[in-house]
Amino acid sequence: MKIYYTCEYCGSHIDMIEVDMVDEIRLGFDCLTGEERQDIIRTDDLNNSMYVKSLCDCCIETLGISDEGSFVRGVNYLH
Ligand SMILES: [Zn+2]
Repeated sequence: MKIYYTCEYCGSHIDMIEVDMVDEIRLGFDCLTGEERQDIIRTDDLNNSMYVKSLCDCCIETLGISDEGSFVRGVNYLH
């Protein structure tokens, strides 16, 4: 499965990772509420893809939120 990360703020492509199995804990999805999950994650079963809303480094800096938001930090852990 391919997981695409797109910036929610400016719409730019951030990253794409390919995984055999979606490990929710490693991806940081386990700390999302059901509502957040629906808002942030969109799955495309047809293309075996997952689209995740995140924020690019540039927007994180612009918005000054680099120190908060477990989800944003979860994404950064991948790098
Ligand atoms: Zn952005």
